[in-house]
Amino acid sequence: RHKEDEDDLLDEEEEEEEDVGTARPLQIVVANEEEHSFSLQEAALEQLLLQKEVQDLHVVVVSVAGAFRKGKSFLLDFMLRYMYKKDWWIGGENDPLTGFTWRGGCERETTGILAWSEVFVVEKPDGQKVAVLLIDTQGAFDSQSTIKDCATLFALSTMTSSVQVRLSIWNRASTVTIKKCDLFAALQLFTEYGRLAMEEVYEKPFQTLMFLIRDWCYPYEHQYGLEGGQSFLEKRLQVKQNQHEELQNVRKHIHSCFSNISCFLLPHPGLKVATNPHFDGRLRDIDDEFKRALQDLIPTLLSPENLVEKEIGGVKITCRDLLHYFKAYMKIYQGEELPHPKSMLQATAEANNLAAVAGAKDLYNKSMEQICGGDKPYISPAELERRHTELLQTSVRHFRSVKKMGGEDFCRRYQEQLEAELNESYTNFTKHNDGKNIFFAARTPAMLFAVMFV
Ligand code: GDP
Ligand code: MG
Repeated sequence: RHKEDEDDLLDEEEEEEEDVGTARPLQIVVANEEEHSFSLQEAALEQLLLQKEVQDLHVVVVSVAGAFRKGKSFLLDFMLRYMYKKDWWIGGENDPLTGFTWRGGCERETTGILAWSEVFVVEKPDGQKVAVLLIDTQGAFDSQSTIKDCATLFALSTMTSSVQVRLSIWNRASTVTIKKCDLFAALQLFTEYGRLAMEEVYEKPFQTLMFLIRDWCYPYEHQYGLEGGQSFLEKRLQVKQNQHEELQNVRKHIHSCFSNISCFLLPHPGLKVATNPHFDGRLRDIDDEFKRALQDLIPTLLSPENLVEKEIGGVKITCRDLLHYFKAYMKIYQGEELPHPKSMLQATAEANNLAAVAGAKDLYNKSMEQICGGDKPYISPAELERRHTELLQTSVRHFRSVKKMGGEDFCRRYQEQLEAELNESYTNFTKHNDGKNIFFAARTPAMLFAVMFV
């Protein structure tokens, strides 16, 4: 290797260290395996989604879902490399992988959802900036009792992501178990939910679903990559007469729920990756075939033109909105049973409305700040009231114009809530404004006298 190349490599390494430096995986949903329950880490999620630079941007949520030791962290670390450095992103031959794995303390073997603490801001080819969230969704499939937990977790992940990568291993011998809990976990629930949701809004409820099959060893039947994956998937999703009816239904309806379903066949990464305990992710130890596939796979998911924004009810949502959806969905996944599609719909409608209330309130508050915020001079109460009335109307109009599920009566309730909250804000703004008026502040005649003549 040339000396210059080596210097470049060193520079790169230093930069990467800096970039990844303080960012880390944040646990946002914790599974309590004994109680078979989940809890949302609200503070962490708020910290993540309400960062000033991203809260109002449309959000792209890329979630890698699968069981333990499937290679999720491994894949996510390559995604991180891509996000941090676009050119020659795959890295130097001897750079250890960092990020979700191999960082002291982060690799707790718990089920749940982890998010990368840095939200990436990416400009799409049309100039729109979007916020990209990388998520690791880890379920357990090892025993009967955990299948429900895992389905719940996958459901939560599907409801909250715009791109879900389902990582699994294809093994002819164990097709039955894979069908049951891996490839098809919770899909039935979604197809039913999707059907209900589409009765209200005609948009498909979910965006991208990619089945990523690792250690593919039948390239002579279906070649590696997307094309081979597509033909493999078509074969798997074919409806056959002798199949169980439930399975037939899932297969029939799955395409009507997701805007885009694909499959990618990933070659085996080589024995060092699979078996060497000292393997630290460096490229030198990974098979070329696998690296080529990665160069194909990662940009397919993450290049600016391929990023898919999260939509709910046909509307792109922001990071701030996503917070409401997480909270609403968590509530319905608390129970003993998997939620009924109807309650998922209800939760979506609720979050739709709550997010619209929050957006409308923000619009009002920001405009009022412009008029009578802390650094603005006193304005006459009559003028303030006039502006308030105007802005209240604008804000309610904004709320009503957002497409929501749940119907008119349901929406009314939230509109009333919005109006009440705006009036409360107004009261605070008037108090603040009054405080700026020295004549008003001087309540007693003596004080009035003092300020007028001193
Ligand atoms: P996670 O638990 O799903 O996050 O899995 P990790 O990313 O921690 O990977 C688990 C193990 O699988 C590690 O030893 C990796 O080196 C290895 N591994 C990662 N990707 C692959 C793959 O595509 N095929 C095989 N055979 N092993 C992999
Ligand atoms: Mg992991």
